[in-house]
Amino acid sequence: MVSRVIPVDPFDLVIFGGTGDLARRKILPGLYRRFLAGQMPPDSRIIGAARAELDDAGFRLMVGDAIAEFVPKDRQDKAQVAAFLDRIGYVSIDAKGTGGWEQLKGRMRPNVVRAFYFSVAPALFGDLAERLHAHGIADAWSRIVVEKPFGRDLASARALNAVLAEHFDEHQIYRIDHYLGKETVQNLMAVRFANILFEPLWKAEYIDHVQITVAETVGVEGRGAYYDKSGAMRDMVQNHLMQLLCLIAMEPPYHFDPDAVRDEKLKVIRALDAVKPEDIVRGQYLGGGGQGGYVEHSENPNSRTESYIALKCHISNWRWKGTPFYLRTGKRLRARASEIAITFKEPPHSIFDDAKGWRENVLVIRLQPNEGMNLMMMIKEPGPGGMRLMQVPLDMSFADALGADAEDIPDAYERLIMDVIRGNQTLFMRGDEVEAAWAWADPIIAGWEGRGDRPQGYDPGSSGPEDALMLMHRDGRRWREIKG
Ligand code: NAD
Repeated sequence: MVSRVIPVDPFDLVIFGGTGDLARRKILPGLYRRFLAGQMPPDSRIIGAARAELDDAGFRLMVGDAIAEFVPKDRQDKAQVAAFLDRIGYVSIDAKGTGGWEQLKGRMRPNVVRAFYFSVAPALFGDLAERLHAHGIADAWSRIVVEKPFGRDLASARALNAVLAEHFDEHQIYRIDHYLGKETVQNLMAVRFANILFEPLWKAEYIDHVQITVAETVGVEGRGAYYDKSGAMRDMVQNHLMQLLCLIAMEPPYHFDPDAVRDEKLKVIRALDAVKPEDIVRGQYLGGGGQGGYVEHSENPNSRTESYIALKCHISNWRWKGTPFYLRTGKRLRARASEIAITFKEPPHSIFDDAKGWRENVLVIRLQPNEGMNLMMMIKEPGPGGMRLMQVPLDMSFADALGADAEDIPDAYERLIMDVIRGNQTLFMRGDEVEAAWAWADPIIAGWEGRGDRPQGYDPGSSGPEDALMLMHRDGRRWREIKG
């Protein structure tokens, strides 16, 4: 049902940072899966480029190990892995140095798509862009893929955009937010714009509020020092949760076309009100059960960085005036669960005497675990004894709906890399979008820094700080339970 694999054009994909964690865990195993699915034409090449002194054979060994570690065993066919590795090469390059560039140039072939994945620290983006250009390796048709974080505030995002713009046009730049590659996230657009059912109700008149939750059970151990410089607002809200909010709130684009979609998302970000200090709750997980807390993991006893944030946002436009969007994300929470819940208003008048069990309709879009959708409906409680109401889910799990085909749904990275080769930017962030998101986030962050606010402690395995519950209770609403 799903597996209509359309091969992309032949390509040369250079992965700068090809020996790094992201390349090993996501990019290379993802490419292998696309190869298995028949989407990667036989004459395509993947070239790792990093500082390590390796040759082709050495890098192939590394890629083979990554596949063994990160691809499910039943997909690891020896002959297929060998055929995939045949397409892989390596050039040792220092982004800041002079060696290796001419060798890389010699590896590039004419008449194939050229893509360069910058899976390195953003501080190196400018060096890479400049050298790709200076050595004539990139041309006007080449594409570059850049990873998050795209800046840590508006000024740094602008600087990154400027440095890339010196050598590449916007239509060549693919800023990854892997949330946009998730199947359910794209389904948000399908649900909204391919069905007549929801769109007439998709506005403040009928929607009471929206909750967006991204909860993790892991803490920041192992990368605490790095995380301590960003925090949940920069690491999750400004990018991932913002993208989800945009897809829920945007107007229908005139066509499913990259700029039409991104224009509409940008309008949402620009229409976001400033968030009031009383509508923000920040938290830090405490230690417990023999495990350290955030301050131990970040090795910063005085840290004021949040590992949890909840906030209430308003969008000032005709569609959404008066409907709050509650966002929350955090680490070391009760369960690993991401979902968007759209709570509709109650019908204007109840014809049933016993309105006790009365609840609203809720459309829940689950991003993980068990991707799918769930529509909470009111029905009559079965059996005699009068008209009693109960709420039941109309539940659709993608895995159940798609059966065996669900296994072939590409993961976010696979899908996005193939979009790069196809030259489709719909699921990538445009420069002005990223800047608008920082322009919204910056004053919020500056506000709590200026006030010297400290995050509130919360128990590991809980739903977050107490004050976050109050943020909802105050409005007569409740967070949905965080369930895995
Ligand atoms: P990493 O430290 O594991 O790997 C970095 C890679 O860059 C290595 O291959 C290294 O050889 C190469 N490198 C470093 N300096 C270089 C230089 N001067 N010239 C050429 N190559 C150089 O990092 P990572 O975790 O793979 O992350 C890469 C990028 O992806 C970062 O921007 C990171 O923020 C982003 N990212 C990573 C993840 C993740 O899960 N790892 C998730 C999202 C975004």
